[in-house]
Amino acid sequence: WEWHSHRMNKTYNRIETPLRNVDGTVSKLTIFRDITERKRIEDELREACETLKELDNLKKNFLNTAYHELRSPLAPIVGYASLLSLSELTDKQRDHVHNIVKYARKVEEQITRMLELARIDSGEIALALEEISIPEIVNETVKSFEPLLKEKEQAIMTHVPEAIEIQGDKQKITTILINLVSNAIKYTPTGGRVEITAEEREEDIQVCVADTGIGIAREHLPKIFERFYMVNTSLTRKPESLGLGLSIVKEYVKLHGGRVWATSAPGKGSKFCFTLSKRRTK
Ligand code: ADP
Repeated sequence: WEWHSHRMNKTYNRIETPLRNVDGTVSKLTIFRDITERKRIEDELREACETLKELDNLKKNFLNTAYHELRSPLAPIVGYASLLSLSELTDKQRDHVHNIVKYARKVEEQITRMLELARIDSGEIALALEEISIPEIVNETVKSFEPLLKEKEQAIMTHVPEAIEIQGDKQKITTILINLVSNAIKYTPTGGRVEITAEEREEDIQVCVADTGIGIAREHLPKIFERFYMVNTSLTRKPESLGLGLSIVKEYVKLHGGRVWATSAPGKGSKFCFTLSKRRTK
């Protein structure tokens, strides 16, 4: 019950409580409370919330459009550069065309990551669940990194039981693994080692990617999964990095009902592990 007095411009509410009298009878105690100030604050808060929601939507829409607009010219850049590579070129020119394609793809990858995180934030991402084989995903990932591993003279080892199957989104789990392996290679000097292990447990499966790289200082460990977080020293800062790879990993693992964490010994290496829940509710 609420009552607004237009004459006094005040709002009241009424509370009724039973009151036992000395003779045993019960009467009703009615209290009128002035809630004008509370109502005013509530109204202000509601308005502020609505304005924030509107601004947030504007920001999301703007970012979505901006990312799309930034990404669209990259396809023709890659297309024309590829066409150019079909013509007769000197080795130097071919090298230049190759670099145009390479860097355009890197920009495209970062914009795609930003777009993906924007989609996750607006709840647009759903899992495309299917029965997937973890060893198959591990093998495909390792294969895709063979040229880079060779270039950096790094060895990769896998310890993955043959039959680990789980219900999951293949594309997303592949992206999780690609991001972790790509970091392991990127932050490990030439000649280092990368190791992928998987283990099936009762409730979930656990996959780890370990490296013998530069490691991560303890104070940075809790923050590396945050968006745009990078460990900024001359040794750790890599060109073309933006600090989004691990944020995507975290979000995709979360969507699968799992968790992700990292341990590290600076100067010796890091280990990133994630779990994927076997129980599917979605
Ligand atoms: P980036 O695109 O910068 O690699 P990530 O989100 O993938 O972004 O990683 C965030 C930061 O965490 C990196 O900038 C790097 O400092 C640190 N990092 C991630 N993986 C490793 C690793 N395997 N070894 C050492 N540092 C790492």
